Amino acid sequence: MTKPPRSGAYRFLAVILAAFLLGLLAGYLVSSFAPKETASATASWLKALGDVFVRLIRIVIPLLILFTIAAATSSIASARKLGRILAWMLILYIGTSILAATWGVLGGVFFKPGEGIGLQVPKDYKPPTPPSGVDLLLSFFQPDFSNLLTVSGSMTMIIFAILLGVAAVLMGEPGRRVASGLSLLSSLMVKFVSVVMYYAPVAVFSYSAWLMISYGPAMLGAYARFLGVQYGFTLMHFFIVYSIIVYVGGLNPLKYFKAQLTPFLVAFTTRSSAVTLPFNMEAARKMGIPDEVFEITLPVGATVNMDGTALYQALSALFIAQLFGISLTPGQLGMAIMAAVIGSVATAAIPGGGTIMLAYVLSVLGLPLEGVGIMLVVDPLADAVRTAVNASGDNACTVLISRLTGYRLNPPQV
Ligand code: ASP
Repeated sequence: MTKPPRSGAYRFLAVILAAFLLGLLAGYLVSSFAPKETASATASWLKALGDVFVRLIRIVIPLLILFTIAAATSSIASARKLGRILAWMLILYIGTSILAATWGVLGGVFFKPGEGIGLQVPKDYKPPTPPSGVDLLLSFFQPDFSNLLTVSGSMTMIIFAILLGVAAVLMGEPGRRVASGLSLLSSLMVKFVSVVMYYAPVAVFSYSAWLMISYGPAMLGAYARFLGVQYGFTLMHFFIVYSIIVYVGGLNPLKYFKAQLTPFLVAFTTRSSAVTLPFNMEAARKMGIPDEVFEITLPVGATVNMDGTALYQALSALFIAQLFGISLTPGQLGMAIMAAVIGSVATAAIPGGGTIMLAYVLSVLGLPLEGVGIMLVVDPLADAVRTAVNASGDNACTVLISRLTGYRLNPPQV
């Protein structure tokens, strides 16, 4: 699996953490003391340095998903065991997302972050056309193989990889050779990622400095209340719900949080669950989760399980209704939860994916689609925490899935 650079996991974590904090500090200094034009030019370069990392990882993500899932599926000889993993995975992923969306609605109802703010819709903003139910269903089944090679084709790639693994199992003896070939290719992809990981600290530094320069002022502005409620509830979900889940799964929550810190920071800065996937896998290994479980649940989770996004989309819907002075009935609040869960499943694991899919949630509730433009203003800040929790939720659920499907955790390495 992906090895952190040289002297072990602690050193890598320390480097990532230092890069994050130094980035925030550098961003703060540039935005406070540099002339405006210099600051914005610096911000563009910093973002580009981070984008290099994200693009390198995005190249390998479709192949990583294909080979890890197909290898893991084909190595689980018992169809019953595989079925149980998939069933528990769906139950936990959907269950935690419903809970998260409920926090979003409660946050909106009790704290009313949108009341009395009165934002202007950006002039050049054109509302996107929200996808229909039919569009959503068909988006899970892309028509051409070439579409599977993009991050937005991940869902179809997952389905393809699972079926490929099942086909290998059904082939019997020759299928075993296929399975070992797939497992070799999966190791190759993981190795590729571990090479690119040497660049991760640069990306984390660049992105956090860029965030600070470009969005620091928004933390003090009119959006502060929204962000305060969003961060508060999202982190509560992270600390309380995931502690309970991993505890029930038989792992000390402190070990979970320790192992999860690196993926958390990588997700926070890159704002992409897909890019965080290799880091999540490394953390799973450290927690002692068996490979054959996390190699299925984590790639699927990166694509479909987004608690942070579900919470954000539900809260945003209420926020926008409040901005426009529209009151929602209790029935509509229930619909907000449902729509946010579906919206989060359909959200692509890329920066800003959740705000694009917010159009779907707003359209289900009949709210003005201009809301998407309003949320775009602070999206990188809102995206940072939701992505960090999206990725962390996959590992928390995976701990419990292991237990529920009869696997034992290996001794944790954290
Ligand atoms: N950026 C998020 C992710 O990759 C998706 C979102 O925008 O909500 O998990």
